Amino acid sequence: MSTNLQSVSSGASVEPKPAPAVAGRAFTIAHVPFESPTFDVMGNSSRHEIKIHEHGFIALVDAMPRLVPQGQTADSAVVQAARVSYGQGTKKVNEDRGLIRYLLRHRHTTPFEMLEFKFHVAMPIFVARQWIRHRTANVNEYSARYSIVPDRFYKPTIDEVRKQSASNRQGGEERFAADAAAAPDEARTAEEFLRYLDDAEAMYGRYQKLTEAGVSREMARIALPVSVYTEWYWKCDLHNILRFLSLRMDSHAQEEIRIYADAMHALLQPIVPLTMEAFEDYEMGSVRLTRLELAALRSRSDTLATDNKREQAEWAAKRARIYL
Ligand SMILES: Cc1cc2nc3c(=O)[nH]c(=O)nc-3n(C[C@H](O)[C@H](O)[C@H](O)COP(=O)(O)OP(=O)(O)OC[C@H]3O[C@@H](n4cnc5c(N)ncnc54)[C@H](O)[C@@H]3O)c2cc1C
Repeated sequence: MSTNLQSVSSGASVEPKPAPAVAGRAFTIAHVPFESPTFDVMGNSSRHEIKIHEHGFIALVDAMPRLVPQGQTADSAVVQAARVSYGQGTKKVNEDRGLIRYLLRHRHTTPFEMLEFKFHVAMPIFVARQWIRHRTANVNEYSARYSIVPDRFYKPTIDEVRKQSASNRQGGEERFAADAAAAPDEARTAEEFLRYLDDAEAMYGRYQKLTEAGVSREMARIALPVSVYTEWYWKCDLHNILRFLSLRMDSHAQEEIRIYADAMHALLQPIVPLTMEAFEDYEMGSVRLTRLELAALRSRSDTLATDNKREQAEWAAKRARIYL
């Protein structure tokens, strides 16, 4: 039996080429050219890279779609997917913008899943542990069983050492005062924290010696601290990338992963500008209100009909965003 793939394509056809038979079936493959000139959304680069701290980076290394019609952006793949149901291709850019904004506003997610982006990332293991929780990505990580862990550790500067937040048990916001004259106790504590990191880093020398002495890499690594760097390739569709960004660019995310999320956003913004604009307008810049909050808003009340202190605090934070 012969299957002609030309029939499912809408582009200009070329002579079908015979393909090797599969399970006794002979296929012909039509190589259909683009209808108009295209360009590479990565500008023929092998990677778009942003350095993070001393040893880290996030690099966009591939994109789907990689080639798009000239004058458009990779956003066109969102539009193409959304319009497939009534067989229309991409229309004018302003109509595409309206459609993308509608889709994002109304949480029509699958058109955004049609785009995929692959990143090469180097980050400390404590950042990777948070990142890996985003299960919808595909990941290939550097193997410390197979290879020697490179001598790279994350160490903040003294001005970046954060205090435990009093209000948020998961957070640290305020910095220690690094000025020893103004706040000697605080400066001492911040310095001691950095010495503690140095001590942990010093384990690397022993790791190296023990691997050289024949201890397996898979065992030698187990005493290395989570400030050591790992690397991976991370591929994800745009819908789930937006979810990752909304969780990890948020002020509640740990600063050390937030900087990677911000950089990821910066890498994608020029490639899918219409999607990112809609994401800013309808996700990052929006405030989600609960039924209790709406009721408080309607009655112009500062307090919620609940004695849950956390909910009250969240309402205060939302009010500050709305009214400032
Ligand atoms: C500020 C912050 C603090 C956090 N604190 C903690 C913590 O203290 N402890 C902790 O363990 N985690 C913590 N997390 C991790 C968090 O609970 C999520 O695991 C993580 O953010 C990944 O989110 P996700 O599940 O939406 O992402 P993904 O895994 O990428 O999933 C995206 C969406 O796909 C769907 N999905 C994916 N896999 C499945 C599945 N197997 N079955 C059904 N649906 C699926 C779900 O709808 C999901 O929302 C924290 C996250 C943040 C941002």
